[in-house]
Amino acid sequence: MALLEQPVSDVTELRQSIRAAGLKVTEQRLAVLGALQQNPHTSAEEIFARVGAVLRGSSPQAIYGILAAFTAAGLTRRFDPAGSPALFERRVGDNHHHLVCVSCGAIEDVDCVVGEAPCLTPSDTAGFTIFAAEVTFNGMCPRCQGQATPEPPA
Ligand SMILES: [Zn+2]
Ligand SMILES: [Zn+2]
Repeated sequence: MALLEQPVSDVTELRQSIRAAGLKVTEQRLAVLGALQQNPHTSAEEIFARVGAVLRGSSPQAIYGILAAFTAAGLTRRFDPAGSPALFERRVGDNHHHLVCVSCGAIEDVDCVVGEAPCLTPSDTAGFTIFAAEVTFNGMCPRCQGQATPEPPA
């Protein structure tokens, strides 16, 4: 079975991850997780555009359902930047943050301070027990900055 031209070892790893999350391994789930592995911060629509052709009877809604199940099982993380559809990624459980370019939508991962998560200590917890924090840094990526900056006069 030629599944998205992925090396066999990758497919094995994908199978194991899906099983470890307590989900049944299906061709659709494998394809979706594989696409996400190669393209972090991807929406259900984008994944459908990549894998829909090889999956019979698939739809963006079906892909979204798979991603929602993955996220509920802790296999993927959902990220909702302003003005964008929900994005998903495989990097989970490390409380990392995101830089988002307000111009082109480029997204970069940013690590929390290594070994600690200062963002998990809000100025006031209001009695809550904190598990995770999502910080989105909105800005402009280097490429867009280059386009926005007028050429310096010669
Ligand atoms: Zn940009
Ligand atoms: Zn990320």
